[in-house]
Amino acid sequence: MVVPQRAAGGSEPGQPRKEGHLLDGNGKIYRCPICHKPPVEKVVTNCGHLFCLGCLTNVLQAGPWCPRCQTEVYRVQRVFT
Ligand SMILES: [Zn+2]
Ligand SMILES: [Zn+2]
Repeated sequence: MVVPQRAAGGSEPGQPRKEGHLLDGNGKIYRCPICHKPPVEKVVTNCGHLFCLGCLTNVLQAGPWCPRCQTEVYRVQRVFT
């Protein structure tokens, strides 16, 4: 007699299942150019580049320049997916 094992016991607390991966043109998951991980909290600069909120905040401490294109960053918006 085989008892089926439960792989996933329903919903796990603290682990909301999200399918909203941000894609970068060719269907690849976008990775932050600073930490090279898919951003958890995404922000977009006025020049249109995406970063982690934390990474960009760190970079902007040194000066308001986009680490991708060196454009002056005067606006940063959260991106919700
Ligand atoms: Zn990052
Ligand atoms: Zn830029």
